[in-house]
Amino acid sequence: MADSTDFSILSAAHPGHTPGESTGDPADAVVRDAARLLALQRYAILDTPMEPAYDELARIAGHVCDAPVALISFVDRDRQWFKAALGGMPAETPLDQSVCRYALRQTGVFVVPDLAQDPRFCHMHIVTQPHPLRFYAGAPLVTPDGYVLGTLCVLDHAPRTLSPAVLDMLSALSRQVVRLLELKRANDRQGQMLLELEEARRQMAVLAHTDVLTGLANRRSFTERLRQELALLQRDGEPACLLMMDIDHFKRVNDVHGHHVGDQALQLFAALCRDVFRAADVVGRWGGEEFLALLPGTRVEQAQAVAQRIHAALAHQPVPGVEPPLVLTVSMGLAAFDPLRPLDLTLRALDAALYTAKREGRNRTVLV
Ligand code: GH3
Ligand code: MG
Ligand code: MG
Repeated sequence: MADSTDFSILSAAHPGHTPGESTGDPADAVVRDAARLLALQRYAILDTPMEPAYDELARIAGHVCDAPVALISFVDRDRQWFKAALGGMPAETPLDQSVCRYALRQTGVFVVPDLAQDPRFCHMHIVTQPHPLRFYAGAPLVTPDGYVLGTLCVLDHAPRTLSPAVLDMLSALSRQVVRLLELKRANDRQGQMLLELEEARRQMAVLAHTDVLTGLANRRSFTERLRQELALLQRDGEPACLLMMDIDHFKRVNDVHGHHVGDQALQLFAALCRDVFRAADVVGRWGGEEFLALLPGTRVEQAQAVAQRIHAALAHQPVPGVEPPLVLTVSMGLAAFDPLRPLDLTLRALDAALYTAKREGRNRTVLV
């Protein structure tokens, strides 16, 4: 059993010293030990809300020691913070008001039979306040890797002692506090792993649905969306249109400027689609330089206007960084959605309209 009658570490404490400054007190070296502070951070316990499990352990400690004040105290760099506080203590106190910090170097329970008789503590607010606290006993909270984070402590208004059996109980309870902390840490880690797993799953799902080069829906995902949207359109009887778009002479772009410029051209076209189409429209990369768009709630004349906007936008946006300027054109097939027609047939008709657009000179839209 440790006892405060060991005054070998005594040095004048400095009431009212600025937090963060060294008090010259040897206890501060222990408090501010970087590895200990890191260990404390690892538990992420500071400034968490009160929790019944900790409150109950403090209550049991108070009861076992027959003391009106019981605290679970964590000694931070410049303060001590209470996870549980029985007996009307504030949520935290400055370090120079902390008796617990002297318990950090203890292996057993740190007992101060009379705080008022101890020059390290007699100036502290708890001792000078109107209804002073006189007795202190704190069992260190020792982590499995040997760091002392704080104490489970009890205080009383009169000078006194605790029997060895009760000191043992206080120590046992302090180990229960550490077990709670270890459980919290395991839960936190598991929670973090679940979050990371969920994020990875979300990214995989996005990747599985996205064309990597253009960021548009890939063919599989577009087909899925198409079927869903078409089912809705069949039910609601709204007009809708499908546009099949194929960049003209794209092979030549690759042949003349290189594959990387071809890729840039595809990205430019995708960006332009994102600008021109509405959020409700579904646009996907159907094949190499071929794109499909579904325009729900759109009549043929409106879809023709959209197609014209695509033609115009392309004419005004050369592929960046290419000299002389490389202006793309696109040929399109346009079909009104017919709910009674199988999708395959509509797609075949769109293909035929696109072929006609190519044959008739490209850079145009042909209606099915
Ligand atoms: P048309 O006007 O008749 O459509 O002629 P085209 O040259 O555009 O058509 P063709 O089908 O002959 O060529 C399409 C080219 O698109 C061939 C292929 O190498 C290229 N391509 C397909 N996917 C990609 C891609 O991801 N990146 C690049 N750079 N080129 C691609
Ligand atoms: Mg083409
Ligand atoms: Mg093609």
